[in-house]
Amino acid sequence: MRKIVIAGNWKMNKTVAESVKLAADVVAAAKNIKNVVVAIAPTYLALAKVAEVINGSNVKLAAQDVHWENQGAFTGKISADMLKEIGVDFVIIGHSEQRSYFGETDETVNKKVKKVQSLGMTPIICIGETLAERQGGQLESVLTRQVTGAYEGLSGDDALRTVIAYEPVWAIGTGVTASDDEAQQAHAFVRNLLATRFGNSVAQSISIQYGGSMKPENAAGLLAQKDIDGGLIGGAALKADSFLGIVTPGETLDK
Ligand code: PEP
Repeated sequence: MRKIVIAGNWKMNKTVAESVKLAADVVAAAKNIKNVVVAIAPTYLALAKVAEVINGSNVKLAAQDVHWENQGAFTGKISADMLKEIGVDFVIIGHSEQRSYFGETDETVNKKVKKVQSLGMTPIICIGETLAERQGGQLESVLTRQVTGAYEGLSGDDALRTVIAYEPVWAIGTGVTASDDEAQQAHAFVRNLLATRFGNSVAQSISIQYGGSMKPENAAGLLAQKDIDGGLIGGAALKADSFLGIVTPGETLDK
C-alpha cells in the first residue's frame, strides 16, 4: 500500500500574511480529506506562522529546501534543526529550479536527504529531465543518474522514508503537462530503478509524485496511473480551491 501524497510548493510567492490566509483556506477545504497526505510548502519566512495555522489539522508542513550542514557561516541558508523545531514534516530537495539556478547537484541532494532523514523528516526528492534531454534520448540515463545519486548510501529502510517527485522540467510552470502515458512510463522506470537497488517490496512502498502543470483538469487522469502516487503542485497550489481540486480525486484511489 502506498500513500498518495500531494504537496503544494508555493515557491517565492505570498507574503507572510498572505501565506497565513492561504494556509487557513487549505485547512478549511481539506478538513474532510482522509486518504491523501496533504502538505503545503510556504517560504521559509512564513513557515512558523503557517505551522501555527495548520496545528491540529490534517495538513502537513513542508519546506522548500534545506542546507546539509548543522550550523555556521552559510549566509542565507537554513538548517534541518531549524525546520524540525517549527514542525516541518517534509522537505523538498533537488527541485529543478534549485538545480538549474542555484547549483544543486546530485551530491548536494544526497547530503540534504541524509540530513533531513537524520532528524525524522521526510525528503521529497525531485528528479526530471529537460526537454533537450528527453529529445536527445537521455530520459532514462538522466533519471538513473539522479536516482542513483540521491539514494547513495541509503538503506532500504531509509528509502522507505522518502518520497520522489518526478517532474519533467519542460512541464514545470509551462502549462504543458506530460500525458498520462508519458508520466506513467517515467514513473514505472523510476520504480524499476528503486526495485533494482532496494528490492521490489521497498520499491512498491515508495510514493512517487508527478509534478509539472498539474491542475484540477488533468489530476484525475494522472493520479489514476498505476505508478503515480500524488503530485507536487506549483501554480495550482496558490489557491485553495484549485489545490483541493487536485487533492480530491486522490481520495478514492487505492495504490
Ligand atoms: C513545481 O514547482 O514543482 C511545479 C510542478 O510547478 P507547476 O505546477 O507550476 O508546474
